[in-house]
Amino acid sequence: MKIHEYQAKALFRKYNVPVPEGGVAFSSAEAEKKAGALGKFPVVVKAQIHAGGRGKGGGVKLARSTEEVGRLAEEILGMTLVTHQTGPEGRLVRKILVEQGLNIVKELYLSILPDRATAAHVIMASEAGGMDIEAVAAETPEKIIRVHVDPLLGIQPYHCRKVAFGLNIPAPAMTSFVRLLAGLYKMFADYDCSLVEINPLVLTAEDRVIALDAKVDVDGNALYRHKDIMEYRDQDEEDPLELEASKYNLNYINLGGSGNIGNMVNGAGLAMATMDIIKLAGAEPANFLDVGGGADAEMVENGFRIIRSDPNVKGILINIFGGILRCDVLAEGVVQAARKTGLNVPVVVRMEGTNVEEGRRILAESGLSLITATDLKDAAEKIAEIAGIHSTI
Ligand code: ADP
Ligand code: MG
Repeated sequence: MKIHEYQAKALFRKYNVPVPEGGVAFSSAEAEKKAGALGKFPVVVKAQIHAGGRGKGGGVKLARSTEEVGRLAEEILGMTLVTHQTGPEGRLVRKILVEQGLNIVKELYLSILPDRATAAHVIMASEAGGMDIEAVAAETPEKIIRVHVDPLLGIQPYHCRKVAFGLNIPAPAMTSFVRLLAGLYKMFADYDCSLVEINPLVLTAEDRVIALDAKVDVDGNALYRHKDIMEYRDQDEEDPLELEASKYNLNYINLGGSGNIGNMVNGAGLAMATMDIIKLAGAEPANFLDVGGGADAEMVENGFRIIRSDPNVKGILINIFGGILRCDVLAEGVVQAARKTGLNVPVVVRMEGTNVEEGRRILAESGLSLITATDLKDAAEKIAEIAGIHSTI
């Protein structure tokens, strides 16, 4: 689960990771008040959305007076901010962070994330931080250093020194950098983060190191043990269909991009296999919905309704292996949903397993024009044909 920059900075403060002074505001009057409390200019006004690249997209602005803070807040609040991470539709800005403008000498990059290949945590850092870090990673990857930390041992002083030397941290800032990195790692581990990123981490003229930006992603599977993070959830930032699915305990993932086939499956492994075979047949999945092992007809009905309401979906493939979820229960749910809402796109059904005969009978007798498939290959070819792309299998 992603959280906002101002929330991430509140966590940073708890772990002694220095951040600029400031606070969140929901209106221009509040922004002016927050700027007044800072006591000096320049002040930076920053759009708070769950996406990066705000600086380049016009969501981070410098103000030199209270009036300018008010004017910029007015401009940014309510704007639809488009960045390279939001997609062309952009994000509506509902809150801003008002914070002190710093005297930046150098912008560094620092992040911590799990590294599956080595089964360790990896600290990534670069002297070439700032808004062009993506270009650095693509064109001059040697400018990014990596230091692995064994999660069982945790961060040690030598890890911190290795990163500090790699970043050419000046001697007067060394102690505070080491403290910052150790605090950041502790926060990463305590909160089961899947990513903590500071870009930029700045060196100031006074030889201080300060986190100017803050990105924190907490592993959704660990949220049950971080009630304080749950309070940071911002449903306005979530995909509306994913949000709707989470209400019914359904795992729905919108894949974005140019896909046009909706998928309903049971189990994540089957979801991956189904998407593979769809691609092999020359088509592109738009989303997948995992109804889970123990779904009932009502969950299936809700799932079907959610998939069909995605405007990109031009055909739906239902691929179910009936285990605990019996095929007749699935068929019942699909028929109920289709009767209530109608079939707005063609639906291909492939199912096998427990009570499959009964399931097929329910579908056949429903009077709905569902397309049945004999096996996976047949299902993928049929849905690909529907998507207007000819099968290449
Ligand atoms: P994003 O990564 O979404 O573009 P950042 O928080 O990194 O947003 O801000 C973009 C740029 O704006 C930074 O690289 C930095 O140069 C500048 N900036 C951001 N906050 C401040 C601040 N408090 N003082 C001075 N400059 C800032
Ligand atoms: Mg940034």
